[in-house]
Amino acid sequence: MRGYLFALLVVLAPSPLTARQIPYPEDPRWAFEKSDIPVDPDFRFGKLENGMRYIIRHNATPEGTVVVRMNVAAGSLDESDSEQGYAHFIEHMAFNGSQRIPEGEMVKLLERNGLAFGADTNASTGFDQTLYKLNLPRNDPSLLDTALMLMRETASNLTISQGAVERERGVVLSEMRDRNTWAFRNAVDSTRFFYPQARYGHRFAIGTAQTLNAATSASLRAFYAREYVPAHVTLVIVGDIDVDAAEADIVRHFNDWAPGPAEEQPDAGPVDHKDRNRTEIYIDPALSERVTVQRNGRYLDEPDSVAQRQENLLRSIGYAIVNRRLQRLARSAQPPFRGAGFGTGDVFETGRSTRLIVDTVDGKWKAGLEAATHEYRRALAHGFQPGEVTEQLAELRASITDSANSAQTRSNATLAASALALVDDELVPSTPESVLQRLEGFAPQITPEAVLAAMKQEALPLRKPLIRFQGRTPPTGGDEELRLSWRKAMREKAAKEATGSTSRFAYTDFGPPGAVVSDTRDAELGIREVRFANGVMLNVKHTDIEKEKVSVTLAVDGGDMLDTKGDPLASEMASYLDEGGLGKHSLDDLDSILAGHTLALNLSRGEATFNSGARTTPGDLELQLDLMTALISDPGYRPEGEVQYRQSLNNYFAQLRSTPDSALQADLAKIISDNDPRFSLQPVQDYRHLTFAKLREDIGGRLSHGAIEVGVVGDVDEDRAIALVAKTLGALPPREPAFRSYGDQPPRTFTDDRSTRVIRHTGAADQALIRIVWPTRDDSDPVATLTLEMLERIMRVELTDELREALGKTYSPSASSSLSRHWKGYGVFSVNASVDVAEVTATREAIRKVVIGLNTEPVSDDIFRRARQPLLEALQNALKSNNGWLSLTARAQTEPDKIDRFEKAQERLLALTPVDVEVMARRYLVPDKGLTVLVLPEAVPVPEMPKELQP
Ligand SMILES: [Zn+2]
Repeated sequence: MRGYLFALLVVLAPSPLTARQIPYPEDPRWAFEKSDIPVDPDFRFGKLENGMRYIIRHNATPEGTVVVRMNVAAGSLDESDSEQGYAHFIEHMAFNGSQRIPEGEMVKLLERNGLAFGADTNASTGFDQTLYKLNLPRNDPSLLDTALMLMRETASNLTISQGAVERERGVVLSEMRDRNTWAFRNAVDSTRFFYPQARYGHRFAIGTAQTLNAATSASLRAFYAREYVPAHVTLVIVGDIDVDAAEADIVRHFNDWAPGPAEEQPDAGPVDHKDRNRTEIYIDPALSERVTVQRNGRYLDEPDSVAQRQENLLRSIGYAIVNRRLQRLARSAQPPFRGAGFGTGDVFETGRSTRLIVDTVDGKWKAGLEAATHEYRRALAHGFQPGEVTEQLAELRASITDSANSAQTRSNATLAASALALVDDELVPSTPESVLQRLEGFAPQITPEAVLAAMKQEALPLRKPLIRFQGRTPPTGGDEELRLSWRKAMREKAAKEATGSTSRFAYTDFGPPGAVVSDTRDAELGIREVRFANGVMLNVKHTDIEKEKVSVTLAVDGGDMLDTKGDPLASEMASYLDEGGLGKHSLDDLDSILAGHTLALNLSRGEATFNSGARTTPGDLELQLDLMTALISDPGYRPEGEVQYRQSLNNYFAQLRSTPDSALQADLAKIISDNDPRFSLQPVQDYRHLTFAKLREDIGGRLSHGAIEVGVVGDVDEDRAIALVAKTLGALPPREPAFRSYGDQPPRTFTDDRSTRVIRHTGAADQALIRIVWPTRDDSDPVATLTLEMLERIMRVELTDELREALGKTYSPSASSSLSRHWKGYGVFSVNASVDVAEVTATREAIRKVVIGLNTEPVSDDIFRRARQPLLEALQNALKSNNGWLSLTARAQTEPDKIDRFEKAQERLLALTPVDVEVMARRYLVPDKGLTVLVLPEAVPVPEMPKELQP
């Protein structure tokens, strides 16, 4: 049950603060040259005479594709006070002109080659590094050559002209405006409170308005020349390539790059390890209540080695057990907190911090802090039970065994990430097989005593800590009460409590296996299609794409279609069904009972189905099917699930208006549907009144009788998959033979009122959002669907050119076409742009210009090709992943048209012309017939619209 535990840990546990800094250039060796961990021999490591390093590896998952990464060991930490935001600004300039590629041409060149901007072409800037990424959809040598040429241009040949700087400045400032959310402001404040003297608290990558406005071609170039030097750069190529040829390509492209002095990266600190007894209260209406208790300490310089990894393993088990205990409390029927986490992380290479974090329902921080502190002290005073260690070890072993079993089919992206971890974090990439071997050799030494000792050795005692409160309303009693409560919690006796014993999984027998009544094979893709006597349908596809991996989907009739005008929240709580556990086990017990297995338990709502999905192994497939069968045949509806639902609900409503995006999400469907309750957010009390008893009444019948279709894809024997489904879902009482059409539901409609609507948000005063929505059609005509998808892509290309490049006004204009499969005649086409409040009118006019253009004449062949090529490549690579297969296999019997569409998609796409797209635009995207929704800050007057924009 790793899925759950890990997901919660990610949210709640103190995250490892940030990657470690690169010790370059003092020590130019690779980490494995000074470690006893054997490096994976399938990587090729190299260094050019100018100091640039590279890592290459042949890999054929997905086959015929390549990923290229360029890591520059320079980020915002390298900026001087007046250069704040420059590392990120340079990253933007990489797409804006170089010696060989004129401004604006790089993205176009990549699109013509099938790389979509954003998805396949991307870059990011961090505190200590800047990373450029290209995902090549084909492995032809000329495309790799182009990719390396572009990386070479970025490395030292950028033009950074004053004109381009002026144009891009608006985009970077737009990005800063968009990023200015309550979450970001809280992160900045928190960093500066816990590390008041640290450099990195004043080096968030986005920079400041002042430094960005002052940036010139000359000042940016100075930063670029100083930081982009060969000794700072590592190039990574992983894919279906000839390693020797790729190495020769790197040499050819990068050998002429002149070496330069590589400046040492400034320290991210200092972090004062004597800092104690400070308290802060930070209030924002969007923040849920959290208390963080922290101590900082010295950095532990612990290079990667076999012994160090053993020590890290012991520590991580210790933290995981404490977090597991905290999680158990959070999942109880009367939880003292919503969640809590305990852990220690490095602050770059300058310090370390130990934290206890407690998330509570508003106003309940005191009880939460007390309960979490109790667990913290109990762990330190009395250590761990052998059963707890066994549970964590089982999880670790399962995860490492899974990696070892599928080592030969790791993806290009995974391998590139482990190559980059060597560069960024000095972690030696070793083979998963050797990791497993070392774990087994070390396992006997993983005792409760060793785990406790290792954790205590690293974790800083939380004496006289820094305490930070964040929330919507200040704590009663303020700073003083926070500190008193902490002291009180630390004084209370930490009793030794026995942890409960674990029972056996009770869902392994569902009665006599169901008989197979039909067993055929789809002619196009070879998907095996089986029907059992009880009506359950199963589709199986064996693939060799990922060794020892199997994906399973389950669709049960129901979903949003159960929501009616009279009972619009009927299916609302369905996605919390898993939180309610099973009849015989709570969700928390399941985590312990099923420790060491790769399983998932979940339910989500689709338009006309409830869906469940899992990625498991051939060995755990049976258990996974047991679990899915148990969830729909004996859901527990336990009260703790209701508690989880209500807690999340309160937070959701409290944050609803806090950003333009969430405010739009809250109101848009309601506006479009003229307040149809099925698509409109209801008053909060209606949600508060929901119970599992009502959910059972509303969806219980669907779970026990509704049609079922199962999809199984991956490294699985077909006959075995059939036998396993026969004894689980196939053994259930008879089901309805077909999914319902829900034809009795009144249609979904689009409002006739096209006057501009205004929604208010409570976020930053300069943030506005423009959304324009046109009604289109349903998904029943495959050619129309494809044409609208092309229109969507063309719109995105044109909006990006027009808004981002020409006006420099917005960071990420987007377009999307969404056609309903179940609502007859219903579909929408949307355009979205986040802008400064002062630029709403200008942006609306610019969008209008693009829409009129699409209505007036066919787009150029070049724009058409830039939009089409990434889609063609995606189609060509679709069946190189289990997910691609799953999308066609999941409903192969009841939605066979999807397979037919897939088979014909490429041909249809190639047959489309710019004229077809123009006709489609004229039909649906009539310039003044879209519904415009403006999301504005409170109290900002609605901008005056020019005449032609008034309906
Ligand atoms: Zn950016």
